[in-house]
Amino acid sequence: MQIKDLCTSCDCWTITTIEHDDKRATFTCTHCKNEFEMPWDTNTRFLIRSIRHSLKKRTKQYPELQELKFAGDFVKLEPRADKKSGSTGCK
Ligand SMILES: [Zn+2]
Repeated sequence: MQIKDLCTSCDCWTITTIEHDDKRATFTCTHCKNEFEMPWDTNTRFLIRSIRHSLKKRTKQYPELQELKFAGDFVKLEPRADKKSGSTGCK
């Protein structure tokens, strides 16, 4: 499957592919090819769901994210002042 996510390696929003077997999930940034693994468990699945969920909100805030369509695409978002005060809260 593919998700749009912020890559911590290239610091861009990119298409990330997720491949998993029963035990491990491999996340690969299609832009810089950075790879990391996570256990394929309920936490990881929840994380993916919450990334997808928060993406809708984020896409409204940053319409640039709609330009991410194909593997290798990347978008660098400019930080916006209004975002910081709003939704950071607890992490
Ligand atoms: Zn990357």
